[in-house]
Amino acid sequence: VVEGNEAGQALAADTAALSPQMLLSIPVAQALAVIGDRWTLLAIRDVFLGFRRFEDLRRRGGVARGTLTSRLKALVDAGILCRVQYQLAPPRDEYRLTEKGLGLYPVILTIWRWEQRWGGDQELPRELVHRNCGQRMEPQFVCSECGEEVAIGDTRYTLGSADRQLAPVPPRSQRRTRASASAETDVDGEVFQVLDIIGDRWTGLVQAAAYFGLRRYDDIAATLGIATSILADRLKLLVHEGIMERRAYQLRPARYEYRLTPKGRDLYPIAVAMHDWARRWLVADADTIIRLEHRPCGSVLVGRCICSACGEELQPAAVRFARSNPGTATPPAQ
Ligand SMILES: [Zn+2]
Ligand SMILES: [Zn+2]
Repeated sequence: VVEGNEAGQALAADTAALSPQMLLSIPVAQALAVIGDRWTLLAIRDVFLGFRRFEDLRRRGGVARGTLTSRLKALVDAGILCRVQYQLAPPRDEYRLTEKGLGLYPVILTIWRWEQRWGGDQELPRELVHRNCGQRMEPQFVCSECGEEVAIGDTRYTLGSADRQLAPVPPRSQRRTRASASAETDVDGEVFQVLDIIGDRWTGLVQAAAYFGLRRYDDIAATLGIATSILADRLKLLVHEGIMERRAYQLRPARYEYRLTPKGRDLYPIAVAMHDWARRWLVADADTIIRLEHRPCGSVLVGRCICSACGEELQPAAVRFARSNPGTATPPAQ
């Protein structure tokens, strides 16, 4: 059992059970393997925002045609999007979310919430209005059992035994998606977005290691089993962006540990939303790999997104985006 506490710290004896294989097998890592790519996430986000046609998606994301084609195909193959013909002559298709795709709504809403608080994504609508109560609101990510907001210090993890783990997700090319982002778009490449964290596999896994309480450089390196140059690069980025802070815990010789800042800790609901989605749609028996328990109520943690004004669970068709910036559309009626 690995317990989070106020410092996001876990007992060393428990984290010793972590291994690269374990970390790559957890549902969040498996979700990252499907949607953890900057262009994929942008496409999903924009379809949720109501943009369904290839040309609209291409213009909004500022993405190369071939890149978008391959990402949309992968999303159709993964059963997240489906193609629907909207015109016969000449034949034209648009992309719609399947039930599995609509299941990503809490992921999109928790991303929106974080960007509003900490980020700089100018493409996101500034305000959300809940149609059912008519009020402006912020999505809140709460425990579906007790209704408390999900916070990093309130979760207890139980790791499964190694023989019950699924095969790890095969590694993908280790590109820095952020670099390709600035090359392919007109968007200011210096604007850091949450997509830069979860849209890059290793950055996401460094975050996951932090959730398990790993803080020391050597422990993180050993657990992730990645090249030290990649790890150093990702930690530097996370420190630069204020997600983590670096502290010396020993002076001679100098040794450093990395702790999540409040900005970093606030990313946690996104990880739980991704865990929930993977648990429902990707990974059979997810709880035998890792079981999340909500400490305040003692139940298996399953989150849900509710309206901060009325407390109702948020559904895609019931949320309206205020048209406060150009290019904002009405939400899809699915
Ligand atoms: Zn609870
Ligand atoms: Zn409401």
